[in-house]
Amino acid sequence: MADYDTIIIGAGNGGLTAAATLAKAGLKVLLLERHNIPGGCATSFCRGRFEFEVALHQLSGMGTEEMPGPLRFCLKDLDVLKKITFVEMEHLYRIVFLDHLDITLTTKRAEIIKELQDRFPSEKKGIAKFFDLVYAFANQLIGIVYMKDPDASKEKYPLYFKYALKSSQEVLDEFFKDPLLKAVIGAYWGYMGLPPSLLSFDNLAILLFAYSEFKPFHIKGGSQALSNALVDTFLENGGDVRFNCGVKEILIKDGKVTGVITEEGDEISTNYIVSNAGLLTTYIELIDGKHVPEAQLKALGGRTIGTSAFTIFTGLDCEPSDVGIKETTNFICSSIDAEKAFSLTKTLDAPQMMLLTCYDVSDPDFSPPGTCQTATVALGYADPWLNIPPSQYADMKYQYAQAMLDLIERIFPGYRDHIEEIEVASPITHLRFLGHPGGAIYGFDQYAKDSRLFTSSESPIKGLFFAGAWVAGGGFQPTLMSGGSAARAVLKEIGNR
Ligand SMILES: Cc1cc2nc3c(=O)[nH]c(=O)nc-3n(C[C@H](O)[C@H](O)[C@H](O)COP(=O)(O)OP(=O)(O)OC[C@H]3O[C@@H](n4cnc5c(N)ncnc54)[C@H](O)[C@@H]3O)c2cc1C
Repeated sequence: MADYDTIIIGAGNGGLTAAATLAKAGLKVLLLERHNIPGGCATSFCRGRFEFEVALHQLSGMGTEEMPGPLRFCLKDLDVLKKITFVEMEHLYRIVFLDHLDITLTTKRAEIIKELQDRFPSEKKGIAKFFDLVYAFANQLIGIVYMKDPDASKEKYPLYFKYALKSSQEVLDEFFKDPLLKAVIGAYWGYMGLPPSLLSFDNLAILLFAYSEFKPFHIKGGSQALSNALVDTFLENGGDVRFNCGVKEILIKDGKVTGVITEEGDEISTNYIVSNAGLLTTYIELIDGKHVPEAQLKALGGRTIGTSAFTIFTGLDCEPSDVGIKETTNFICSSIDAEKAFSLTKTLDAPQMMLLTCYDVSDPDFSPPGTCQTATVALGYADPWLNIPPSQYADMKYQYAQAMLDLIERIFPGYRDHIEEIEVASPITHLRFLGHPGGAIYGFDQYAKDSRLFTSSESPIKGLFFAGAWVAGGGFQPTLMSGGSAARAVLKEIGNR
């Protein structure tokens, strides 16, 4: 008999929900995490009197108690809702294009439309029609992708079939003339890591829909509180967890999973594994190549490693309003050209688009009294950082951070003077802490061909399943929900056995 029914590799969002779901279903489950805390990206760290949120800027899919979204159901099933408090944000985002435009969108569909129509009166009709499309399209997407309608057809879901794989830019061009308006509406490309020309419309539409219909949220205590709550549920249901315990190898016999070997050399047997360590790491580093089907390696070869991020975490010795911060979520752009901004993510040149989040605006207790914290993130691939000689890395990192601070100062004058604590994370930092190639935070680049439409939690190796960004696409909602899908796939297979 195996030591465990299932072993979960990695305690990121996907690993945690998979572990908690399987333990709740009565299986004997072991969760192995290389880091000393749970969460992967969904963690925090302390500097001085601040506990900094690492990743969560806006949580999608929660919805309210009256109007629950899919993630609320998922977390309720895992007993998390009673353990933590979610904080609803008032605004979708403020977006500033230096010297061009400064606009704030609320989270209500009718108000968003009005705000945009007031600012772009000549595009009034297009704006209303575009949001009609986003909502109608998202409802069809939910029917096909989430409800898995067995009778899905072009006739039943015409909008979905017409628009799903079009680029976001094509659709923005279809509805609008003003490049500034397109830039405002397309801003969420930063949450997917590809500019509108490369991002399929289904991704942009579902983000706009999810955040306006189900509202953006944050969590009291940060995403670490969510990760801890999931571990609690797992332990309450009999799960075993080991931190500081990376998996070195997945053992396979006759095309089927039989166990793992940890980095400390322990061999633990199991019939099922859910890997949250990513497809590349799992197939290339953890499994002996002779067990990986050729077709699987070929499929991986057609995909590219997605973006990482460069983040400045600052603790300020003042209230947000003292430096002019009035919204939680602030996109700061020095250009309206998303294509250029994206091309810079592959260089060490100063970013042209950043997201500054100040948690204390929606949750005044987030930081110690009289202080606040911000996390300012710019997307960035790891490659240029990997090419810097180690002796120059620190200088380059601080030079890059200075350029970001210069941009922040233009919107929030006096910001620098209030910095009490500051920490900087580059793609190399994410690489080190997550272990993902390129420090990727959203898994593979989310080209339409690699989107959730064409990926699954299952693998050609019997007993091996996946959860997390490399199969579900990046972001809290998809990765948290992917653990449930992987767990259900395991349970189904056990049921069939
Ligand atoms: C700066 C930043 C900002 C972000 N902002 C947002 C946002 O506002 N909204 C949003 O929805 N998403 C956001 N994201 C993205 C989101 O956080 C991630 O896509 C998501 O958390 C990834 O979850 P995951 O399940 O793929 O696991 P990961 O977080 O990738 O964790 C994987 C875990 O596996 C462990 N592991 C790896 N290899 C091994 C091994 N061999 N043995 C044991 N353990 C192993 C790692 O240590 C890690 O803990 C952001 C991310 C970052 C970094």
